[in-house]
Amino acid sequence: MNPPLLSARGLGVDFGLPGGRVARAVDGVDLDVASGEIVALAGESGCGKTTLARALLGLERATRGTIAFGGEPLRYSGRALKSYRRDVQLILQDPSGALNPRHTVYDAVAEGLRIHRIADKETERVAEALSRAGLRPPEKFFSSYPHELSGGQRQRAVIAGALVLRPNVIIADEPVASLDASVRGEILALLLRLRDEMDLGALVITHDLGLAWSIADRIAIMYLGRIVEQGPVERVLTDPQHPYTRALVSVLPDSPLPEPMILSGELPDAARIPSGCRFRPRCRAYASGSASAVAGDCEGADPGPLPSEASAHRVACHLHRVERGAEP
Ligand code: SF4
Repeated sequence: MNPPLLSARGLGVDFGLPGGRVARAVDGVDLDVASGEIVALAGESGCGKTTLARALLGLERATRGTIAFGGEPLRYSGRALKSYRRDVQLILQDPSGALNPRHTVYDAVAEGLRIHRIADKETERVAEALSRAGLRPPEKFFSSYPHELSGGQRQRAVIAGALVLRPNVIIADEPVASLDASVRGEILALLLRLRDEMDLGALVITHDLGLAWSIADRIAIMYLGRIVEQGPVERVLTDPQHPYTRALVSVLPDSPLPEPMILSGELPDAARIPSGCRFRPRCRAYASGSASAVAGDCEGADPGPLPSEASAHRVACHLHRVERGAEP
């Protein structure tokens, strides 16, 4: 495993709300992405995935904690941030929204070069990016407009727009959610190819554990602003330990768990994080009494935050700690 390229430690993002309330959208997250690996960040809508991604991109300033790239802390000054944004690129979910309908594919892909004032070999770099994204021969697409492309080709053009700056890490927010099932596999295969050919690191945000299974090397499960379980994707999804992860995995078509566990209740408001373990109000293990050995802990202390450790399977749950005999 390569050393982490992009690292977050103790990352927190708060939003002020009317009445002086504070929403802790991201709350004490440790997360690493190494070159040549794909990390899936999964969880329900509203759990903080997108805010975490925006913080990692430098689009949202962290309230607490640190972000480091290549071992260097992220600085929010103009030039340092601009350079960081060349290295860490975003791929948006909806290619139609990401592409200006009045811009040709060439101009859309060249835009990043122009923003960063990279004039050298513009045509070559645009052609290379289109080709890497699978739009070949690239010249055929230079003068195309987004409406002349299929959904899959539009997403490839968006990916080319990220690749043109030759980033080291991409952060892809639900990269295939808006695509037909027939082209999803092609885009996922493209991301895998970019990982292997360019040694690219990627954080793929998804609510779809099946997608995570097919593409990721590691997975981090997020609940109410915090990572509650993370580890190699195969270990986490075949042997989920946190009651929240178990509920998510239990409803997959090929779940290794014997029966579905339907999550009760709604995701709580990030301005009203439950005391003790934040998952407690929805935790079947706690409610059923199977967590009785640690009930006091469940009520009294949040078992996180979870330290990142690239190869380890880590779980933020008091019950898991008791069952596995792990160190507190
Ligand atoms: Fe459930 Fe307790 Fe584990 Fe939280 S710490 S997930 S309440 S068993």
